[in-house]
Amino acid sequence: MADRILVVEDEIVLREALVYNLTKQGYGVSVAADGHRAVELVRQEEPDLILLDIMLPGIDGFEVCRILRQDYNAPIIMLTARDDEVDKVVGLEVGADDYLTKPFSMRELLARVKAQLRRVRLLREEFADDEEEASDMRLEFEGLVLDLKRHEVFLHGEPLALKPKEYELLAYLAQHKGRVLSRDQLLEDVWGWEYTGGSRTVDVHVRWLREKIEDEPSDPVRIITVRGAGYRFEA
Ligand code: CA
Repeated sequence: MADRILVVEDEIVLREALVYNLTKQGYGVSVAADGHRAVELVRQEEPDLILLDIMLPGIDGFEVCRILRQDYNAPIIMLTARDDEVDKVVGLEVGADDYLTKPFSMRELLARVKAQLRRVRLLREEFADDEEEASDMRLEFEGLVLDLKRHEVFLHGEPLALKPKEYELLAYLAQHKGRVLSRDQLLEDVWGWEYTGGSRTVDVHVRWLREKIEDEPSDPVRIITVRGAGYRFEA
């Protein structure tokens, strides 16, 4: 079945160009012209990916993203028009997966959409493989337990509240324990970013994770920084 994309954009010309190009690529496309409608449509249709403009009538794209992220995990690509918006998206306090700065080419947009959808598909396949190997479904490291099937993490028996990207990063690190993983590799495999050099994003998420899973975040023993190379998860 074709992937379904929700386009949230109040500028009619850009919205129609997006709809035209995405439809031509075979995607199913829905549209919303304001934030409230966007939230409503996501609940109704559960699209596979969202293109989300930031400056919108009603509630803005940041707020829409925050609302959706409470229980919605599909990729969200933000469409930004200003540098200060980019800073906020890159900081990823809002939980977006990627962003494009206007004006962007349709070719670039389609490449990003494809990359995000592929990332999700690979994740899904990995989890499906895991289903077959029950022993791989639960990773245990001295007080830290990851339940890959239920996407749950426990620290010293207590459930941990992780944001979707924090969970994905931790699961990826844990599944590659003992190996040095470069920021580029993490960006590509966890975020699906092949076209941007946003390595700060990785550092920010590692810092957040350490605050949640390390007894002493400033002296980490689980997620180790390997100078000049990246990060390594210690079992
Ligand atoms: Ca707008």
